[in-house]
Amino acid sequence: MLTLVLGYLELKANSNLTTKDKHERKFFLKPENHQMNIVNRTFYFTNSNAFTHASDLHKLLMKREKLPAVLVLTSDNGTDFCPNNYLVFMALGRLWKLLKIDHLFACSFAPGMSKYNFIEMAWATMSKALAQITLVPDAAKYDQKNSNEMEQLFETAMQDLGIIWNNTKYAGKNVFCEYMKPNNLNLEKPFDDYDDVKEVLQSGRKSANHNKYKNEIKFLFRHCCRRGYYLHFKKCYKLSCEHCRDKMCPESFDILTKLDSKNDSIPPPILINDLYEGKHYPSLFDIFHSETLLKKMTELSKKRQEELEVGKCHFCSWEYETEADKTKHNHFCP
Ligand SMILES: [Zn+2]
Ligand SMILES: [Zn+2]
Repeated sequence: MLTLVLGYLELKANSNLTTKDKHERKFFLKPENHQMNIVNRTFYFTNSNAFTHASDLHKLLMKREKLPAVLVLTSDNGTDFCPNNYLVFMALGRLWKLLKIDHLFACSFAPGMSKYNFIEMAWATMSKALAQITLVPDAAKYDQKNSNEMEQLFETAMQDLGIIWNNTKYAGKNVFCEYMKPNNLNLEKPFDDYDDVKEVLQSGRKSANHNKYKNEIKFLFRHCCRRGYYLHFKKCYKLSCEHCRDKMCPESFDILTKLDSKNDSIPPPILINDLYEGKHYPSLFDIFHSETLLKKMTELSKKRQEELEVGKCHFCSWEYETEADKTKHNHFCP
C-alpha cells in the first residue's frame, strides 16, 4: 500500500547511564523512558518533505508541558533529514527559532554507526504488531480509478492502522499514532511555503522572492554551525540580537561556552590514526571527558578546515563544502 509512515522516538537523556563497546568506547546507555510517535500519510495523495517533518516535530513538542532547552535530533542520512540539504537547514532552523530553544542539534549517523539508531528497534515492535493483519480485507471492492473511492480506501486503512498502533505498547508506553488526511497536511506557518523556499534557495538573487526571504535565511546562517553529519542551531551572545536576548538556561550556556572555546560546536567525526587503528570514530562521550582527546580532535578539525580549499564565510561560521555551496551561501550572507 502506498503509505508513508514516519516515526519519531522521544528519548530522555540520562547522563548517568553509560556503557562501553568492544573497542572500549564509552557511550550513553539507551534510555529506558521513551515515547514512540508515528505520523501516517498516504503517499498516494500527499508527499512529505523536510518542512512536513519539522511541522510534525513542532506539533509533537508542543504537546509537552515544558519545552526542552536543548533538543537533539538524530536520524538516518535520508534526504529530508540530511544536514547538507538546505531545505533541512531551513526547516530545522525555523523549528529552533519558533520554539525559542537554546540549542538544536540535528545529527545523522556517521558511516558504520547506524546500528545505534534506536528507532530501528522500535520499528521492529511496530512491524510485529502488524504481523498477519490485512488492512481493509475488502479492498478489492474499491474502484481504483475513482479518486473519491481511493480516498475512502486509504482513510479506512489508516484508521485501522491507527487503532492497532495506538494500542501497541513500546517501552511500557502506548504508541501515539496520528493520521494526516490527504489534502490536509495541517501545515501551519512557518512550514507552509516549501515550494517558495525551495525556489528561492535554488535561484538566489534571481528569485522574485529573494528580498522576502533574505533576512530570514541570513539570520539562520548566522545562528547555525554546519559540519559533516550535523547542524547545530544556537542562540548567540549579541545584545543587538532580539531573538537571543532571552537568557539561556545555565546548562545551555555551559555547553555553548565549552563548545565555542574549542570548535564553534561539537567536533565532526574524525578518524584518528593512533586510536582504534584509525578504523573507528572516537565516541563523543570520550572526547568531552578527556582534555587530551578533545585537544587532538580540535587540532584535527582545524587542520581539516584549513585544508578545505573553498574556505569559510567571514561573516558567520559557515564552512563551504564546494564552490556551488559558497555561491549559494553568498546569495543570502552577507
Ligand atoms: Zn542571536
Ligand atoms: Zn555567512
